[in-house]
Amino acid sequence: MPVDTVVAGGQVVSSTGVRAASVAVDDGEIVAVGEESQLPDAAERVDASGCLVLPGIIDVHVHIDDMFSIDTYETATKAAALGGVTTYIDFAWEAWEGDLSLWDEPGTLQEGVERKQRKAADALIDYGLHGAITREDPAILEELEAVVDAGVSSIKLFTAYEFGLSYGFMEQVFEELAAIDAMAVLHTEEGSVCDARTERFQAEGKGDPPYYPQSRPDYAEAMAVDSALQLAQAHGTKYYGIHTTSRAAAEVIDRYREDGSLVRAETCTHYTTLDDSVFESQGNLPMIAPPIRTPDDNDAMFEYLADGTLDVVSTDHCGYTEASKVDVPWWDSKFGANALQTSLPVFHDEAVNERGFGYPFLVDVMATKPAQVFGMPRKGTLDPGTDADLVVFDPDKEYTIDAGDNASKADFSIYEGRTVTGMPTRTMVRGEWVAVDGAITGEPGYGEFLARERPDWRA
Ligand SMILES: [Zn+2]
Repeated sequence: MPVDTVVAGGQVVSSTGVRAASVAVDDGEIVAVGEESQLPDAAERVDASGCLVLPGIIDVHVHIDDMFSIDTYETATKAAALGGVTTYIDFAWEAWEGDLSLWDEPGTLQEGVERKQRKAADALIDYGLHGAITREDPAILEELEAVVDAGVSSIKLFTAYEFGLSYGFMEQVFEELAAIDAMAVLHTEEGSVCDARTERFQAEGKGDPPYYPQSRPDYAEAMAVDSALQLAQAHGTKYYGIHTTSRAAAEVIDRYREDGSLVRAETCTHYTTLDDSVFESQGNLPMIAPPIRTPDDNDAMFEYLADGTLDVVSTDHCGYTEASKVDVPWWDSKFGANALQTSLPVFHDEAVNERGFGYPFLVDVMATKPAQVFGMPRKGTLDPGTDADLVVFDPDKEYTIDAGDNASKADFSIYEGRTVTGMPTRTMVRGEWVAVDGAITGEPGYGEFLARERPDWRA
């Protein structure tokens, strides 16, 4: 019996090496990796000569179809497919009342999970969910175990914004997460510092975009990382720091992190590839929280990715239109920017072409570690027996980033005009091609909810 597909003649990349090999896929799984002559016949042969074959990219931090994104699951997963992303993790929110809320009344986390699962009916790629706690209602402590058991094994907590939690309440959540072996995902900026500085800038009329990064300084990030990590370690809670931006914050993570410790962290593509000069050149478009920082912070992100203090590179994708970002003081602009479609080529160009990192590093921080950290054993590698999620990547293909090509509803790019060398040419999810040569070939509704395991970080 022939298998479904052989991707032949490429350089197959894992987190530990690169080798010339072909990949056989059948019934949605990788069945063998090796010399083509040793593989079974296939109904479809795809020539990957001159290309790399990577595990599908896993983006563990995206915002789709809620108050932080006008993208639908269909538009976001199309952008993902074109960008070589085969799985992403979005957020399921506990409904709250407030200026930023979509809701008129509070709701449960379970309702938030079901809401996102309904919205995801048009997904082209697989997705998971983080639960997000937005209120200091002790009822959440009773709810967490069932949500985690249902595959939402990471719970996000904020130290800033109207849904930021006090450390007193956070401690109770950490205790419960430790008891049920789930992980905490932390947005860490000291909210009172950011709020007070914002109010001061508003009073002083400092609404021009270059003031924005000064409103949320690196020390405010480092302070909150330190406080949240002290609490997490006091209770043996698995801690994942999202969107680390600065040397100051990474230094704190490094202090808490030892082999076997329950600390993991990410940075995002834009914190490695853009610096604060963007607020002069692009105004509010790259306004993201925490802010894009200095060239030294860019260097620090690579130093700490290289030494393993940071594990993962994500996008923090938020779908917004240009019109909702510009022509207002920065405090009235939307926070966030789209990047699902461009993250792999932009990060590749910076990490591999500019800074000389190898392909195994790229695969490690964008696929293998995200899967390990977030409990997805069928994802993140090209090991036989796992899901056939892969990317054919042409390292020589040049592309100049043009938001006119966006599949996202977002109509701008913070990388507009940047020429990158190296592009994904094909993306496969569980054995089906979802994007080929810049065109969508997947079907809305093909993507599945991924019930994630509780990851074993001690392994
Ligand atoms: Zn985010």
